[in-house]
Amino acid sequence: MSDIKVPIAKPIIGQEEIDNVVEVLKSGMIAQGPKVSEFEEKFSLWTDAKYGVATNSGTSALHVALLSCGIGKEDEVITSPFTFIASGNSIVYTGAKPVFGDIDLNTYTLNPDSIEELITDKTKAIMPVHLYGQSAEMDAICDIAEDHDLKVIEDAAQAHGTTFNGKKVGSIGDMACFSFYPTKNMTTSEGGMITTDDEHLVEEAHIFRAHGSRVKYLHDDIGYNFRMTDISAAIGIAQLNKIDEFNKKRIENAKYLNKYLDDIDGIITPFARDNSTHVYHQYTIRVEKGKRDDWIEILTENGIGTGVHYPIPLYNQPIYQKLGFDGNCPNAETAANGVISLPVHPSLTNEDLDLVIDSLKKASDKIV
Ligand SMILES: *Cc1c(COP(=O)(O)O)cnc(C)c1O
Repeated sequence: MSDIKVPIAKPIIGQEEIDNVVEVLKSGMIAQGPKVSEFEEKFSLWTDAKYGVATNSGTSALHVALLSCGIGKEDEVITSPFTFIASGNSIVYTGAKPVFGDIDLNTYTLNPDSIEELITDKTKAIMPVHLYGQSAEMDAICDIAEDHDLKVIEDAAQAHGTTFNGKKVGSIGDMACFSFYPTKNMTTSEGGMITTDDEHLVEEAHIFRAHGSRVKYLHDDIGYNFRMTDISAAIGIAQLNKIDEFNKKRIENAKYLNKYLDDIDGIITPFARDNSTHVYHQYTIRVEKGKRDDWIEILTENGIGTGVHYPIPLYNQPIYQKLGFDGNCPNAETAANGVISLPVHPSLTNEDLDLVIDSLKKASDKIV
């Protein structure tokens, strides 16, 4: 293996995060407490949502959101197959069945035109995934949901601060779920957040986050321990002061890459909609000539970290096949076979970006 000089992701932890954590540790209140409440308020305000419910991961945020919407056995939820497994698994955890619609090959997000034919009398919700930092087509998706009386739960794990037609994701569907895993645009170490404007859904989320009790020691539902700690929230509060700056840098890096990669033969650079923002959780290209592995090999030889997000549509995952979930999504398969994510994170220097560009030029010259 060559040495990786430019990693694909790098969380930025500064003195403010360290000071905040030390303060919490010294306070003795290290589980869910006042810092979690403060983080919930600040994050929901920043997302233009009324309420925030913090959890211990993005996955548990999705799980709790689905339960809060009353989704369970015998129900179906329509989502994208071109995503991280947690999107699908959160549906499976509730006992419901994930049903997969194809994606749009420009944005790699759920194509609204694929949804209607999948709706049955068991369908309860649509879970669009705002992939790579760009929103799904929320106007069309919300219209379909309204026509069929379905809930919309946004998987916004990769889309902190993204807007769609001027609205922030997290404030568009009935509920939205964010992840604060270290590779995401902002982090709490592990952590997640649900945002919503619906007071009833917040109450439900609080119940499912903590053991399913509405009255202390009286349990009507099977709930979980999905609480965030004040230690994590303290990191999140510091990161929230920096997220706009982080996103700005990601967008600048992406523009720089676009400028020089657009002319390179054999690759498609990311598409970004007008009137919306793309916060480039990933900068993902698609190769149109040669084998993807050959491109990755040359990039690796040149010290460039890469990722494949994601190599297999969820319905082709062995466990999903075993569980009998299926799908027929040719665009998702094309994407799964051709995408490569390149470094775009805020700590990249101009030299790093130039190295990425030069390495891709080399790869394009070699590969036919
Ligand atoms: C990261 C991610 C999740 C899960 O978040 P965790 O915090 O890792 O549990 C869910 N959906 C998508 C699209 C993600 O990228």
